[in-house]
Amino acid sequence: MTLIFIFTLMLGAAAGSFLHCIVVREAANEKWTTGRSECDHCKKPLAWTSNVPILGYLLSKGRTSCCNKPLTPWHFIIEILGSALFVLVLWQWTLHGDLLLLLQGIVISIFAIYTLASDGRFMHVSVPMSLVSGLLLLSLATVSGTLLPALGAGLVGVLFFGIQYALTRGRGIGSGDLILGGIIGIALGFPGVVIGILAGYVIGATHALFLIATNRATGKTRVPLGAYLMLGMLFAFFFEDNFLSILF
Ligand SMILES: [Zn+2]
Repeated sequence: MTLIFIFTLMLGAAAGSFLHCIVVREAANEKWTTGRSECDHCKKPLAWTSNVPILGYLLSKGRTSCCNKPLTPWHFIIEILGSALFVLVLWQWTLHGDLLLLLQGIVISIFAIYTLASDGRFMHVSVPMSLVSGLLLLSLATVSGTLLPALGAGLVGVLFFGIQYALTRGRGIGSGDLILGGIIGIALGFPGVVIGILAGYVIGATHALFLIATNRATGKTRVPLGAYLMLGMLFAFFFEDNFLSILF
């Protein structure tokens, strides 16, 4: 079991590292498959040590080996997130032994890692990634006989952000948030969609207040709502039952 745990940690970190690379390339409009990762500052190819998930960042003390500039902490954040999510998926598997739940957990985790990195770093929600994840989750819902509730909750998610989008004429909410609302609904069903979106807002508001209190943001700073929604979705997916049992 210890070996499986360590393997899962490493697999999650590697998945996070890989997804983060694709996010950066999508943002720069590059092909997924071209060349090796390069330094954000001097564009030299990165040393192989920088490509070792988590440890690469820690060993280089967060600086590049080529030009000794600060590395973005995003590599580290996304790799840690990948490890944590894969371990949570493993934990759910040991609790329930449910193959569909396992597959759902993997799709949700990969989608969340990707979107958190993309929206958090570049304020961008990937349409292709969202489409593929949404279709995979709908297929899994079909197999488990929960297609209708999944579609219903997806519609609730889209409407929740769609109404705000219409009211603010796209100034408060981005079109990407409508897509995310739909996928959060499909992923969580009822009542998860409500818990997930609310949790996302609570996490976002808490973080924003913290940034304002420490003078790192003002009331006008744009926040990556999608990234917080992903954290809310993950919270609801993994801890909904525990959360509801505390409340009721
Ligand atoms: Zn460099």
